[in-house]
Amino acid sequence: MKSPVVCFWGTRGSAPCPEPSHAKYGGHTSCIDVIYGDHHIVFDAGTGLQALDRSLAGVGHIDLLLSHTHFDHVCGFPHFKALFNPNFSCHIRAGHLPEGEYIEAIMAGLMEPPYFPMPMSFFNAQLSFTDFRVGERFILGSDIRVGTIALNHTNGATGYRLDGPGLSVCYITDIEHDGLVPDPDLATFVSQADLLIYDCSYTDEEYDAFAKGRGHSTWQAGMRLAKAGSVGNFAIFHHDPAHDDIAMDAIAAEATAEMSNCFVARDGLVWQPA
Ligand SMILES: [Zn+2]
Ligand SMILES: [Zn+2]
Repeated sequence: MKSPVVCFWGTRGSAPCPEPSHAKYGGHTSCIDVIYGDHHIVFDAGTGLQALDRSLAGVGHIDLLLSHTHFDHVCGFPHFKALFNPNFSCHIRAGHLPEGEYIEAIMAGLMEPPYFPMPMSFFNAQLSFTDFRVGERFILGSDIRVGTIALNHTNGATGYRLDGPGLSVCYITDIEHDGLVPDPDLATFVSQADLLIYDCSYTDEEYDAFAKGRGHSTWQAGMRLAKAGSVGNFAIFHHDPAHDDIAMDAIAAEATAEMSNCFVARDGLVWQPA
């Protein structure tokens, strides 16, 4: 079996930012493809889904796990061309919605007039949907265990942990931390993972100055969590569009000086466990 890989297709938060000043780290919003052998497990459907789409030649199925349904995490979905292939299938799962709301209806709503010219029924791939209760565990394929945890975010969000052959990876976005001590339940959830991908929208300085209460976290809070959970590697993710390449280079330098097993995720990066 091929070694697992993590492909970062969209690493921004909040809004796309395709300007030349942001080209090094990229401007696509959240979308990550975790590939175990031939099994593609995709975190979120931001505009990075367009880049993922162009990489899917020959792929017949993906499992799409949504953290939540804020625009930056779903706005790539209506443009997902793979869904016009009748031989393609996509299973979408979400756990953040309140009782009585369903992910199928929410995704269909993205494609209703006057927002979009075609309804979801125009897709002729096999689309399926599952609503789960955050906190539940399930299995994908034969041997990929999925854990879920509720994150502190406006309208709710789900954090995920995948434990599969050769790779354990946690996807923790969007989240607002509480104080300087990591949430012990979250530290246990990410414990010993090979890779922690975390909402690093801000720096601690920005958080204290203006970002408290906005529902997002900082790279320093992510690093405190990574250390509390003894994770193997820490990926700085969900970059604020206000952070151009110069600002991201400064964050990368400061973060890697503090923790050697840390990196800034950027669009197009393919990461493999050592
Ligand atoms: Zn977001
Ligand atoms: Zn959000």
